[in-house]
Amino acid sequence: MEIRVEQGCPQCGASVVLPETDHVLTCVFCGTRNLLQSNGPFRYVLPMAGQASSDGLLLVPYLRFKGTIYLVTAEGIEHRVIDTTQAANPAPGLPPSLGLRPQAMQLRRIDPEAGNLFLPQTLKANAILEKAAAIGNLTTEVGENLFHRSYIGENYSYIYLPLVAKDQGVHDGVTDARLIELDELDGYPLQGKRYDEAWRVWFLATLCPQCGAGLEGAGDCQVMTCATCHTAWAFGPEGLTGVDWHIHPGDGETPLYLPFWKVSTHIPALDIYSFADFVERSNQPFLPRPQWRDRVMSLWIPAIKLRPKIFLQAGRQVTLGQWQLKPVEGRVVPNLFPVTLPSSEARQAVKLMLAAATASPRQIFPHLPQVRLTDVTMQLVYLPFIDKGHDWVQPETGVAIGKNILRFGRTL
Ligand SMILES: [Zn+2]
Ligand SMILES: [Zn+2]
Repeated sequence: MEIRVEQGCPQCGASVVLPETDHVLTCVFCGTRNLLQSNGPFRYVLPMAGQASSDGLLLVPYLRFKGTIYLVTAEGIEHRVIDTTQAANPAPGLPPSLGLRPQAMQLRRIDPEAGNLFLPQTLKANAILEKAAAIGNLTTEVGENLFHRSYIGENYSYIYLPLVAKDQGVHDGVTDARLIELDELDGYPLQGKRYDEAWRVWFLATLCPQCGAGLEGAGDCQVMTCATCHTAWAFGPEGLTGVDWHIHPGDGETPLYLPFWKVSTHIPALDIYSFADFVERSNQPFLPRPQWRDRVMSLWIPAIKLRPKIFLQAGRQVTLGQWQLKPVEGRVVPNLFPVTLPSSEARQAVKLMLAAATASPRQIFPHLPQVRLTDVTMQLVYLPFIDKGHDWVQPETGVAIGKNILRFGRTL
């Protein structure tokens, strides 16, 4: 499902509607471009029935998660795409999930001035996600056969449902349905708290911190680039931070560059320090070359949202073929595809990619719970892809990605 959010432009005040995944707000009225900033997940409220105002009402939190859960088990790597909203407070009478409502409606950000009270979140995000995973039929019992679990979250937010108290009952503010009688709430007082300042969203001008030029990037990108000084900037709670970025140059006509996070690390639990160590420990069907002893091991994680199978396959193939790549300092060239997976998510995918890249699950999987990464450095590397009919193909590593799964013609 795709959720759309109404957002006021900080420059001219006009109301702009954007997908919830967008952090870059481009105002179609005044043309300014601003970065939405927050310290945690975004928080939205559902619109009321009959366009009534929800000001002053009690709001109930629902955790919204859209992303992929991966499990590494003795049987292999399982995955499931989860797209759910689940109540974050167990008070009786509340709908357990918001169902399809959010996608059919335009959400607004919660407004600190609206005088709402907020029912506190009492269920932990992780517990809610596990419940969602169970709904998706993915067993989550930690046991002898489960070696690793990771949530590669594409999006994580809170959606609030307004409640209306009337006629001795509690009503769903969106559908007006009666949820529960007031006298049945014994022991569960619906007591809200005031707006927490930590939820506030603020804006940041998208100007290059190094040279002051306007940065470029699609609405849902996680990294913006400066075509003037050829720098790249990632979003974080502290604002824009410089990204160590590189490009493996294609020829002048390269139709597409796709970004990967290159995570270089030592893995003491598996005695992996160099690429040669990795090739040996993971039992690859080829011999390490002598110079691979000096090449630090890196796991390559696609820096874009891809279906789970393709995500694992692309990361695996670049990880195995990394010795053929010769990245140089990053430069803004045509056809750079936007980074949509932030480096923090890539960091969470490292163990998973290690599992995906091994030729011998038995030698790697059982050690995953003990694996700790040390000496981690991250770089963003763009790789050239060529047009092969139905697929985009990376010539050095052989990665093939169906054209139908990448949104066409996007540039950073
Ligand atoms: Zn504007
Ligand atoms: Zn610049």
